[in-house]
Amino acid sequence: MSIEVRGITKGYGDFVALDDVNVSIPTGQLTALLGPSGGGKSTLLRIIAGLEVADAGSVQIEGVDATSLPPQRRNVGFVFQHYAAFKHMTVAKNVAFGLEIRKRPKPEIKQRVDELLELVHLSQFAHRLPSQLSGGQRQRMALARALAVEPKVLLLDEPFGALDAKVRKELRDWLRRLHDEVHVTTVFVTHDQEEALEVADEIVVINEGRIEQVGTPEQLYDEPANDFVMGFLGEVTTLGDHLIRPHDITVHTTEQAGAVRGEIVRALRIGFEVRLFVRPAGAADEGADVVVTLTRTFARSLGLEVGTAVWLAPETGARVVPVRRGSAGVLSDETPVSTEKGATAAV
Ligand code: ADP
Ligand code: MG
Repeated sequence: MSIEVRGITKGYGDFVALDDVNVSIPTGQLTALLGPSGGGKSTLLRIIAGLEVADAGSVQIEGVDATSLPPQRRNVGFVFQHYAAFKHMTVAKNVAFGLEIRKRPKPEIKQRVDELLELVHLSQFAHRLPSQLSGGQRQRMALARALAVEPKVLLLDEPFGALDAKVRKELRDWLRRLHDEVHVTTVFVTHDQEEALEVADEIVVINEGRIEQVGTPEQLYDEPANDFVMGFLGEVTTLGDHLIRPHDITVHTTEQAGAVRGEIVRALRIGFEVRLFVRPAGAADEGADVVVTLTRTFARSLGLEVGTAVWLAPETGARVVPVRRGSAGVLSDETPVSTEKGATAAV
């Protein structure tokens, strides 16, 4: 493991930003720290970088106890959302900066800068000023600058967060390809689940200062540890007392033991899919509607339309997770179904 975070706790006044966080980040991979805003992602990244001091716990980087090392001795590169470039220096000079303060020989610096600009596809902009680059190009320059000193670890805090959706998507693909070329251990903070699913080898889900789950994109999607992870990565709906993915629900038009009975109140066609909103029997309003997605062909074959009575059950092998109830955050499989939900069947 490249980065070992052990028992890290960090508070700001009474507020606990990180609560006994333990995580191992593998060498040479691209790991995403994913979670909602305010969950503690940046705090954890800054503690790994040495830009923030934890109240308790330790950080090891490549086998070295870095807990009390200053940032410049941790061998990490860092890129923020709003990258502060040296405005009066050319792109090439910005990239060379870290090497120059380390007093590397001039020919070596030139060669390395040329290589890096090639790597981030900015060779033709070497002599421009940062203000003459687009937002996406500036972030690529930031990455080149962070990589210049050959860090053991590259830490990226929402590096594409300030860019528009299309550029973000391009840079995300580009980052994946870049990582496949250079293989530097990379930790990438994002609150965007799609970004994490697309880019990362491994995802660490952080919420309210705690780690909810660590796994590959497939593991998190297919085997979420709890309702939070399930709802954060992918679409979910509530069937009875459980969360389930809308495409994992089977629709019957005849009564089925144990199934949730309801009536189709809305049907949306989205491309080849149909999204049904099923109001469980006895439910008062749309707050209780179960969302079901199925193919148009299948919906047609069953003659499903608004007003049709249906029975809903999880498909065999479907992943279901109990809904967390109450403010204590206690998972309760056996909680009676609340009247407002109006569902009658346990899943
Ligand atoms: P994320 O990056 O996941 O959005 P952060 O790590 O930035 O979350 O912040 C986690 C929590 O800690 C937030 O509620 C934030 O307001 C709080 N926080 C972060 N930095 C400070 C600080 N310097 N002083 C006080 N509170 C802070
Ligand atoms: Mg942040």
